[in-house]
Amino acid sequence: MDFRRRTGYKWRVPKTGHSEINGATRICAVYGFPVAHSASPAMHNAAFAKLGLDWRYIACEVELKRLPEAISGAKAMNFIGLNLTVPHKLLALEMVDQLDPSAIRWAAVNTIKFEKDLEGHVKAVGYNTDADAIATSLQEDLNVSLAGAKVLLLGAGGAGRTAALKLASENIAELYLVNRTQSRADEAAADIKRQFPGVTVSTTYPSGDVDLVLNATSLGLDPEDPSPLDETRFSLKQTRFVYDMIYRPAETKLLKAAKKARCKTANGLGMLLHQGAKAFEIWTSQPAPVDVMRKALELEIYKRAASPKASRPKARKKT
Ligand code: NAP
Repeated sequence: MDFRRRTGYKWRVPKTGHSEINGATRICAVYGFPVAHSASPAMHNAAFAKLGLDWRYIACEVELKRLPEAISGAKAMNFIGLNLTVPHKLLALEMVDQLDPSAIRWAAVNTIKFEKDLEGHVKAVGYNTDADAIATSLQEDLNVSLAGAKVLLLGAGGAGRTAALKLASENIAELYLVNRTQSRADEAAADIKRQFPGVTVSTTYPSGDVDLVLNATSLGLDPEDPSPLDETRFSLKQTRFVYDMIYRPAETKLLKAAKKARCKTANGLGMLLHQGAKAFEIWTSQPAPVDVMRKALELEIYKRAASPKASRPKARKKT
């Protein structure tokens, strides 16, 4: 019997161009809960193969209460680094040995690099690559100029808060931050007023036009979800650009409606790509093969979307 078939071992890692996992293979991982839908393994494994690195990237389902031991375990097992996704980004701030200025500035950790000093001690250094990725993707995919712009941002969770701070740092003129839980929007707004007093912030829908609507809620991940935008309060005719951080499904209800209203639209694939490319550069100290990573992501996301078997795992309750 085929060893691989018997153990199932090889079937848990995607093909990357390396023939075998061996004793020298090094590991990166993304921790999340849930995580099975992540497209990051496809993107990073393609990039490792392109650079001829004997590294693999896996996705690990880690409950929030087990994050400390999962980070310690990766450190003990000589992992290269980690990505963190929902719900780990905020808690990880307190679980690394050192914070890069990016993690301090954007108050969240989505990337960890394990660094060995001369005496062989390993430390976990936390970075944030999400914030810059949002601005890069808005520029690249929508060509929207942020300086002086009016923005309606839906969502003040982890990603929404990071986006709000990043947009403010790009000198937008007005920010309308709308969130289901008002207190979270209020907290983020207060933070922005303190750090970026030049930006006018409100936590309600705007009465007039804006340049950009950005969805940073999780509404839309399930095709049955309602739109995150309350169209009784704000019409898509009041904006030119609409960006949805969700990339699977590729076209959410919000993006469909925005196209119909003749807005220029983009989904979150570019954001995923650029946060991943920056993480790759942190781990490897080499330029990321961005085109290879983009192709791998498109294949993974759109091929799977087209597959009749493809279905999104049900979101689990936070632990
Ligand atoms: P999070 O911290 O859990 O925040 C979730 C946000 O969605 C909160 O604002 C929450 O509002 C809102 N929300 C959830 N269910 C809702 C509902 N039924 N009605 C109205 N609002 C609801 O998650 P996150 O990390 O910020 O992620 C948010 C979204 O961004 C997700 O869709 C995620 O996939 C996407 N994302 C994309 C990328 C990328 O690379 N493209 C990166 C990060 C995140 P409350 O505060 O009221 O709970």
